Amino acid sequence: MPAASPALVPAAYPGCLQPRTILVAEALRHPDGTTVSCPAAALISGELHRLGMRPLRGTLHLDAACGPGADSTGLAVVLDGSIGMGVGFAERDRPGRLAAQLALGAWLSVVAPRTIRLAAPRAFCAGVERAIEVVERVVRDREPPVYVRRQIVHNRHVVAELESRGAIFVEELDAVPDGATVVFSAHGVSPAVREEAARRRLDVVDATCPLVTKVHAEARRYLARGDTVILIGHAGHDEVEGTLGEAPGRIRLVQDVAEVARLRVEDPARVSYLTQTTLAHDETAAVVDALRTRYPTLRGPRADDICYASTNRQEALRAIAGSCDLVLVIGSANSANSQRLVELAMRQGVAAAHLVDDATQIRPEWLAGVRTVGLTAGASAPPQLVTDTVTALSGLGAVTVTEHETTRETVIFSVPSVLRRP
Ligand code: SF4
Repeated sequence: MPAASPALVPAAYPGCLQPRTILVAEALRHPDGTTVSCPAAALISGELHRLGMRPLRGTLHLDAACGPGADSTGLAVVLDGSIGMGVGFAERDRPGRLAAQLALGAWLSVVAPRTIRLAAPRAFCAGVERAIEVVERVVRDREPPVYVRRQIVHNRHVVAELESRGAIFVEELDAVPDGATVVFSAHGVSPAVREEAARRRLDVVDATCPLVTKVHAEARRYLARGDTVILIGHAGHDEVEGTLGEAPGRIRLVQDVAEVARLRVEDPARVSYLTQTTLAHDETAAVVDALRTRYPTLRGPRADDICYASTNRQEALRAIAGSCDLVLVIGSANSANSQRLVELAMRQGVAAAHLVDDATQIRPEWLAGVRTVGLTAGASAPPQLVTDTVTALSGLGAVTVTEHETTRETVIFSVPSVLRRP
């Protein structure tokens, strides 16, 4: 589809738009009553937001009665019968007009037919679904207020949704009143946090993923036999903080091969290792090899502690990455497994890979010359965001969607027994 220039046509919006507030059409309604849907609305909204505007989404009513060129009521663009793009803004809003033209022009310049290759599995894992269900049930069944320590999972859409249901997210337990209900996040907590909760008689519901709990149990086992425990992971991550807390000072964190070279341990013959659950397999293997070279009697889990969900999402992406011009990973910036997917795509030789919270963060310049887009989502990202992204991209021309499933996930973790109804 050739790129077109934004055209000025009259439009009316049944409401009052403030300066810099721009109505982005999710549908264009013609005077004859016909409606053209505008799937790219999320993309246009994102660009307007980056230009400092306040985008609203809704139906834009085209009003032929204003006459040709009478753009005093707004600006609208119709590309053709199947692809619609339109925005409306206040009459005297010059910055709004300029931003609208820039945003529409940017997206129209990358209109083209594309293939979207979906990696499968993608999006929510069993541990994340369980953690979200825990919060939903606690908010529904317990007396408010209900607190959640840290983000229940690392995704801002999930957190916002649970906040809208009444959950109150806090960083530490000192923000929770004595005796109140608190949920521990999927990433787990240190024994010190559990002790504080018990001391203050908090009503704790633990949403720690069972696979993180398993790593804590391994840490305790290795420590009990007198080993120095090396945790391979990323400093500051909630899961890593919780695992290190099993024995502050006795579990040592290494993030890469270079840090292995700087390690000093009491007894090199008694060293074990653990890994964060959401690491990339290839990178972790290099660190484990370096540890084994330094400590030949190194002991650890049978393979590593990288969970099935991280493994499967990495394998699925690896299977499609080679045929993609661009890879988009849906996930939040603090989601470790999502970040690893972006890095993996780049290691696979993809020209560009980006992490986005949702379709509004996709930038038009990323799509210039791109014909095949690989799409996946981290384990904490809602699957609906992938669907929404496919819809948004379909607003830039015909899309052919293919899915490549490398394995089918059947893992389910049930919620803690205290939350199960008889
Ligand atoms: S990514 Fe893995 S460890 Fe984390 S919640 Fe999901 S299954 Fe559990």
